[in-house]
Parts: sequence; C-alpha cells; structure tokens
Amino acid sequence: MKIIKIFCTILFILFIVSPAFAADISTYMVGTMKIVRIVDGVNGVPVDLLYDGNRDIINKLVPNGICPNLITSYVLDSKEGLMLIDSGFGDIEPGVMYDNFIAAGYNPDNVKIVLLTHLHGDHIGGLIKGNQKIFKNATIYVNDIELNFWKNRDNYRIVPEMMRYCFDAVDTLIRIYGPQIKTFKDGEQVVPWLTPINVAGHTAGHTMFELNYDGEKRFIWGDIIHCLDVQAKYPEVTVEVDTDREQAKLSRMRALELAADTDILVFGEHFTNPGAGKFYTLPEGGYRFVPVEPEQ
Ligand SMILES: [Zn+2]
Repeated sequence: MKIIKIFCTILFILFIVSPAFAADISTYMVGTMKIVRIVDGVNGVPVDLLYDGNRDIINKLVPNGICPNLITSYVLDSKEGLMLIDSGFGDIEPGVMYDNFIAAGYNPDNVKIVLLTHLHGDHIGGLIKGNQKIFKNATIYVNDIELNFWKNRDNYRIVPEMMRYCFDAVDTLIRIYGPQIKTFKDGEQVVPWLTPINVAGHTAGHTMFELNYDGEKRFIWGDIIHCLDVQAKYPEVTVEVDTDREQAKLSRMRALELAADTDILVFGEHFTNPGAGKFYTLPEGGYRFVPVEPEQ
C-alpha cells in the first residue's frame, strides 16, 4: 500500500509539470465585469488517491486511472480595477500562468487585490518569481484561520504528506509580501460585491468566493472538486490532499447544494476546459455538470 502511495505521489507530481497550455486564456462575463480564466498548467489525480467511494465505479468513470485537471487562476477585470483569485504554481512547478497573464494584456503592477482560496502551493506560488513579488502593489487577502494554520508548525502532522511543503511555501510568501498580506473572516466582504464562503476541509480555512455583480452571481470555488468526472456524481469521494476528508466532503455537498439548479455559473480552479459550468441535481442522487463555453 505504502509503495503504491509513493508511486502515486510521484505520478501526481509528474502530471503537474506540463505547462502545455500557452495562451490558454478565456473570458466570461458577469454583468459588465470580465472574469478572465488563466491556465497555469496540466495536472492529474491518479484514482488511487481518491477515497471514500466505490472503487469499481471510480475505475469505470476514469478508465485510464488519471483524473484530468488543470491549474488555473482568475483575473477579475471591472470598473473598480484589477483583482486576482489564486495564482497557480509559479516557481514551485513552473507553468505558464505569468506568461498567460501578460498575454491577456495585463500588467501585474495594476493588480490591487489578490484573493486566495487557500494556501496550497498551486494557489500561491504564482505570486512570486525568482524570490521577488510579482504583484507589488496588491494587498493579498486570505481567510484568517487558513493563514494561522500554516504559520503554526505544530500542524505539520495533520497535513497530508504531499502537502507539507506548503509550510515552507507560506513562510516564503510571508517573507516576501510581509504586511501586504491581510486576513478576512468567514463572510467578511473585502469588496462589497464579493463574499467569502467557508468551505473548510480541503484545508483548515478553505474558502470559496461568491461574486454578485450587476445583479448576476458566480462562484469561484477553489478546490471543492479535484476530479469532476467522479465527484460531481459522487460528492462523498475525497482526495488524498484533503486535510480533513470528512469535513471536505460536507463542504463539497454544501457548495453543490448552493450551486445546483440555479443560474450560478461555477468556476473551479482544477476544472478541465472550458473551466466553468452549472450543476443539476440527478434524480438518483449526486449532480450532473454541464460545461459552459466562454464568451471569448
Ligand atoms: Zn489546488
């Protein structure tokens, strides 16, 4: 079992490092605001790293044994200025997030606010390049429980082995951005049209964001789902990289309940292309995901 786990970990890491999506940029609208989805690279979760589900069903849904997923982040381009949600891997596993951000026509100096769903390396690494801050004029916001968790090395043993490197990644982030890092509490709005919603479990302070702009709603929900092919239909399935799998499962069920059978378009940081869609309740249980193509 241990050997399989090590093998899967290597496989997981290998799949992370394929920055094959140069210029993979797409734009969705929410009212007059653009949500620009930027792909950092290709990822993949070996099915052996999925837990709490029926193994035969999982194997049938993912016949080649690897759940495809991507690493993405989002630029919010509105009349109030530029914001960024999550940032990809950056130097941790070099991808193309920064190149795509520039290719989309943006200047990092113009980003005023960065919001982080959580502090795993694939969400924070892209804030730094060669030990320098990329977004030097931005305030970086993260949930207070999340930041305090990673600042405390007593939590080392609680964290799944393959995510323990994030303690160092968070230290680096704090060293480089210092007082530019601020915290919010659950439900506390950083800007009036964006509400953080607690979906803890994947990490201690994992947060999704509800955008309510010009009367329309969107969710950018971080790592609620790592394997769309399995976890939409079977939300009880958890993944090795969840800090608290039981809590992650409950949060996923809650998030799906909030999104399902509504007009809310959902963006997931690890969804495959096109990267956004809507969820519908299935009569036999679970949800059906219907992808929605970008406007541009
Ligand atoms: Zn992630």
